Amino acid sequence: MTRLYRGRFAPSPTGPLHFGSLLAALASWLDARAHQGVWLVRMEDLDPPREVPGAAQQIISALAVHGLESDEPVLYQSQRLPAYDLQLEQLRARDLLYPCSCNRQRLHQLGRVYDRHCLAQPPSATASTALRLRLPSPDTPIRFVDAIQGPQQQIPAQDFGDTILKRKDGLHAYQLAVVVDDIYQGITHVVRGADLLEVSARQHVLFEILQATPPHWAHIPVINNLSGQKLSKQNHAPALDLSRPTYNLFHALRLLGQQPPETLLAADIATLLSWGVTHWHIQQVPRRPHCTDPLFSH
Ligand SMILES: [Zn+2]
Repeated sequence: MTRLYRGRFAPSPTGPLHFGSLLAALASWLDARAHQGVWLVRMEDLDPPREVPGAAQQIISALAVHGLESDEPVLYQSQRLPAYDLQLEQLRARDLLYPCSCNRQRLHQLGRVYDRHCLAQPPSATASTALRLRLPSPDTPIRFVDAIQGPQQQIPAQDFGDTILKRKDGLHAYQLAVVVDDIYQGITHVVRGADLLEVSARQHVLFEILQATPPHWAHIPVINNLSGQKLSKQNHAPALDLSRPTYNLFHALRLLGQQPPETLLAADIATLLSWGVTHWHIQQVPRRPHCTDPLFSH
């Protein structure tokens, strides 16, 4: 039996919606609608120092201007801390969690795979520690087929190691929260930016450890600006011009490899979105961005 399609868009409220996130939101919305599925918005507001007051509401409003509205109330990760702690307790009870006191410098020298130093030599009870997942089968390859990027494989022991689930500063790690919430919301399909492709395997493992079915993954190309940087709030991507949602959606569709006719530039957003759903072909989404657009040059 196929599960009912449930997809989501999960922005961090670190600034206004920019074009790169509209692209991810639109792709996940179109894929959900083309499957008669449910589409949700989840606010990843787990990292207060990085957040901008009012950004969450701004993002929700900007999505609404483009006709993209969550089918269920927006879930705020800041309201979910007890659920994350509960999962940590359960992992601890299964002996799948250990404290790590290694400092930034040591971790930097190690590179991306942690050497389990603190599993062998537990830190003192008074040390400030992060909590790491003890991967139960680090040598078992993780394999999945991404609907856009194709077959993927990573070997935990070589490619990522024991992931931090709670940070030294006491904040829950993104990797934990995202998986716990995808399970909680019954997410079956994740369509998001390819900058997150690399962490999908470690999330895949965590789904399995938490005895849940991992979602189907699809990673859309990350749009670069003219200087080759990812379009994101961190490098000051311009906020979307909310006065021209049809134009924004039209160009987003084109960048997603769909071919809306020029006549739709004069259409309303409902007509454009409806065209998008009817003509959505995820196979046409390019693996890498293949054009730049005047939108990104200013
Ligand atoms: Zn350590």
